[in-house]
Amino acid sequence: MLNEFYSVRMRAAEGGAHEQGGRHISGGERLGQKGDLHELAAELLAKSLNHSRGDCDFIQVVIEKLHGQEMKTISPLPVSTEHVRNVAEGREKAAFLLSTLGISDEAIKRGLNLLKRSTRQRGAMIIDSQTGQRLDERELKGVRVSRMDWEAKGWEKWSASYRTLSSSRIREALALASKVASSPYTLAELCWSDDPDYVTGYVASPSIGYRRITHLKEIGDSCGGRIFFAERGCNISAYIAYLEKTPVWLQYEPTNLISEGGQGYEGLGRSGVTANP
Ligand code: AMP
Repeated sequence: MLNEFYSVRMRAAEGGAHEQGGRHISGGERLGQKGDLHELAAELLAKSLNHSRGDCDFIQVVIEKLHGQEMKTISPLPVSTEHVRNVAEGREKAAFLLSTLGISDEAIKRGLNLLKRSTRQRGAMIIDSQTGQRLDERELKGVRVSRMDWEAKGWEKWSASYRTLSSSRIREALALASKVASSPYTLAELCWSDDPDYVTGYVASPSIGYRRITHLKEIGDSCGGRIFFAERGCNISAYIAYLEKTPVWLQYEPTNLISEGGQGYEGLGRSGVTANP
């Protein structure tokens, strides 16, 4: 039987719609079949209405059928955690990891500065991994990675394997980071949330996986967002088209863990992971 899939997206702002100057509060993207649409829309609505960034007065949920588009299937990045004592140590660790991935000092400095100043950004900022120059020219809108989700069984198995990390936040962030890392134009991603009560962030890339860093900002700070460090000479319109439009399913088999690492990767029954994923 031919499965027909739908993309479900939500964006919410305070002070009117984003394009009328409203402040971005929340967003979300899921994939599903016709029978899942009520539930997915309700989950995204609940997410927009219960957000620590504020009380939104503009909420948009868009549902689109993906006419005949082929689904790409990928595995989630392997997850590990760097335990740091404070923000300075966390940002130093992030800079070190980015530099081992071939990103220039200038681009790292610019990436960190962009996130420190960013409090209203709706999507990611794409910057050149050598010059640090912003490539997407989308200002506050940025590039919203869409059309990715976990295959239901894949998420069930992953959350059974990574019990202490299983949350909707990690579910969404790992799907996003895995899709971003699956583009040949991505060298690395740096993220910390703009939620004031959430201080763990990550650096992700195909080679180091999804590396959580326990403190990338102070509690109460509303700065944050996502930076994608692009390969030199990247075709920016093809890159953005992939991030926004190509449907991607995450599938997971616990055997991935064995082939992908063993040293330091968290999974099957491991504990000692911070309660703030
Ligand atoms: P969150 O991880 O949901 O707290 O999001 C933190 C910030 O990351 C948001 O304010 C956006 O700037 C950015 N972001 C969240 N979701 C996406 C997405 N799907 N694509 C691109 N950027 C995103």
